[in-house]
Amino acid sequence: MSDTIYDVIVVGAGNAALCAALSAKEQGAHVVMLERAPQELRGGNSAFSGAGMRFVYHGVEDIKSIVRDLTEEELATSDFGAYTAEEYLDDLGTTSQYRTDPDLAEKLVKGSTDAVQWLREKVGVRFIAKYGDAALKHEGRWKFFGGSVIRVNGAGRGLVEAEFKAAEKLGIPIRYGTRAIKLLHGLNGVEGVRAIVGRAQEDIRARAVVLACGGFEANREWRTRYLGPGWDLAKVRGTRYNTGDGIAMALKLGALPFGNWSGAHATEWDLNAPEFGELAVGDAFSKHSYPLSIMLNANGERFLDEGADTYNYTYAKYGRAILQQPGQSAWQIFDSKVISRLRSSYRIKKMTKVSANTLEDLVTKLDGVNAQQALKTIHEYNAAVKKEVPFNPNVKDGRGTTGLAVPKTNWAQTIDAPPFEAYGVTCGITFTFGGLKITTDAEVVDAEENPIPGLYAAGELVGGVFYFNYPSGSGLMNGAVFGRTAGQNATRYAKK
Ligand SMILES: Cc1cc2nc3c(=O)[nH]c(=O)nc-3n(C[C@H](O)[C@H](O)[C@H](O)COP(=O)(O)OP(=O)(O)OC[C@H]3O[C@@H](n4cnc5c(N)ncnc54)[C@H](O)[C@@H]3O)c2cc1C
Repeated sequence: MSDTIYDVIVVGAGNAALCAALSAKEQGAHVVMLERAPQELRGGNSAFSGAGMRFVYHGVEDIKSIVRDLTEEELATSDFGAYTAEEYLDDLGTTSQYRTDPDLAEKLVKGSTDAVQWLREKVGVRFIAKYGDAALKHEGRWKFFGGSVIRVNGAGRGLVEAEFKAAEKLGIPIRYGTRAIKLLHGLNGVEGVRAIVGRAQEDIRARAVVLACGGFEANREWRTRYLGPGWDLAKVRGTRYNTGDGIAMALKLGALPFGNWSGAHATEWDLNAPEFGELAVGDAFSKHSYPLSIMLNANGERFLDEGADTYNYTYAKYGRAILQQPGQSAWQIFDSKVISRLRSSYRIKKMTKVSANTLEDLVTKLDGVNAQQALKTIHEYNAAVKKEVPFNPNVKDGRGTTGLAVPKTNWAQTIDAPPFEAYGVTCGITFTFGGLKITTDAEVVDAEENPIPGLYAAGELVGGVFYFNYPSGSGLMNGAVFGRTAGQNATRYAKK
């Protein structure tokens, strides 16, 4: 056991944990971070992320205050619109089928602008506008859509490296290879954690603990137990270290389980991607241009509405739909009319891709797919496209299909112009939605909904915000807003 008694121990070293530790330090806390991963694999899912961030802004001036290096030409040709608190709350409401906890959702939304500004000003995170992903060019002007319009320069790695740099500058110690396994508890509440360091156990004491060590997405057994059959077969998009330890520790102490325990954020992910994420590839195994495609399963049939909405309102639930298909796989089919519009992740080296000059040839190249049925499905789809409605990728154009059992609602283009391309995808799980219940002060509550003294939580392991689906760019914002709150309140508690 070490003799030091910290004010605050932060468990984890992803975005939520780093925001908590930086905020605790700002308040004058003696803080230490414990990270299960070795230093070279630090940063959790946050390091793998595309680092898009959804926040409330009221127009171009708000964007300019955060994205500092927009050129005059970009400003003159860009329409950022606005994204209000009401729209953000509405998006959390509709994606969660109105189950999102109203207090947590409001805190997330209302804290979002301040959190981005703090990351920019105090932490030194550099943001860029999401040209290409969240904005399309039409008649010479970029029109942004979907609410998540900025990302961190350098994506997830850029984000956590800026945060680690700030932590190192403030002298916050980070103990790598240190896996917290148990919360220490006395009469007055939480008093520290027990950790495995190498092969030894060590008790590390503190007046308050912030749990920010991720969900259980990398735990195959918990996935199957809570998400259901088949989830053992999903690929993990990010870190291998988020196995639910923080949730398990808190539950053992009587914390209340909360939120969508059978739900997860899961997306279309390269069919042959490795079992866990690869930091060098990051988010690029994602295949989010499917609204311009049709997706076929192994039976050669369509199974979802590819054009129900822009990708940022459907991508997080379509992973589950793919997992439910035979072989847990699907193929996204494009023709040359739209290939130039595909996102940059369709041009990486490691990809499951086939191409052909005829549809007959293409369907025979789709590994494991009923080629005859695939061809029939494409022809039926082509015949059902509402050709009289103009195609417009900038808005939900209503160019859908008629008469199909599985409709496509927008951006339906016939697939008839060679060359044709197809991309193999499977389900990649991002993070789990179920977790602990916290107050808006980030205090973890017990079964009677009373705060457990000295215990705070933030990030993926908090339940109650996301159910079924998710508006893109909310995960990092959730971690930033509640991470800051947890760091501040844990310090206040420790110094009482
Ligand atoms: C490929 C990909 C793309 C994404 N893109 C976006 C995006 O563009 N925008 C967005 O908002 N979100 C995105 N996300 C989701 C986002 O990354 C997560 O919501 C967010 O990073 C969660 O932050 P966190 O701090 O809670 O968890 P993490 O960043 O995962 O951090 C948890 C940390 O805890 C550590 N840990 C685990 N167990 C222990 C233990 N027992 N002891 C000590 N440490 C432990 C882990 O090693 C890890 O460092 C993406 C995720 C992935 C995987």
